[in-house]
Amino acid sequence: MRLLLVEDDNHVAAALSAVLTRHGFDVVHARNGEEALRAVLPATHPGKPPFGVVLLDLGLPDQDGYQVCGKLRKLTSTPVIMVTARSDVRSRIHGLNLGADDYVVKPYDTGELLARIHAVARRHSSADEPGAAAEDALRLGPVTIELPTRRVSVAGTEVQLTRKEFDLLALLAQRPGVVFRREQIISEVWRTSWEGTGRTLEVHVASLRSKLRMPALIETVRGVGYRLVAPTA
Ligand code: CA
Repeated sequence: MRLLLVEDDNHVAAALSAVLTRHGFDVVHARNGEEALRAVLPATHPGKPPFGVVLLDLGLPDQDGYQVCGKLRKLTSTPVIMVTARSDVRSRIHGLNLGADDYVVKPYDTGELLARIHAVARRHSSADEPGAAAEDALRLGPVTIELPTRRVSVAGTEVQLTRKEFDLLALLAQRPGVVFRREQIISEVWRTSWEGTGRTLEVHVASLRSKLRMPALIETVRGVGYRLVAPTA
């Protein structure tokens, strides 16, 4: 996948490019807003496919990163992940309102960044092809989650889950490696901000671990929430 890295700090860019290249990305580096906006024009790289993702640092020397994001949005449908040291909610909302697809706060974990890049790229490519079946089933090692039929199997054997267990697993499985906060899970799965008895979520997680016979699949991140650890085999 081609990836446009917009970053004015050459040391940061070199280190990140090396990691991304090792993970199979074809990285193009832009050092400022102007270079970034030029890079996404098809005429700049004739014969090359469009970028799969733009990683946009917000602190750029020539233009405000938010403005660059807004301008990128007008030039291309390539998903944009903003990368910034500003972690406050207002900055985040502002970025998402300008059309960013995701928002990563420095310092970030490289594994999480890679998971987010793959997640936005996957969402984007499935939006391009509405008939694509790839998004109908999530496959994580031996675990297959069929979204339309709500069926889950482990190594080909179907596992019976309750509605909420399925919703919880499907939510976490959409972004393996990414930590979901407790409140976020409760509001998405139970569609409420009420935490029930306070143990509802724990009970469902425990039940999933035991039904799937994969206790390490869902990892507890103390004081924060849960994440799904994609099995390697
Ligand atoms: Ca910067």
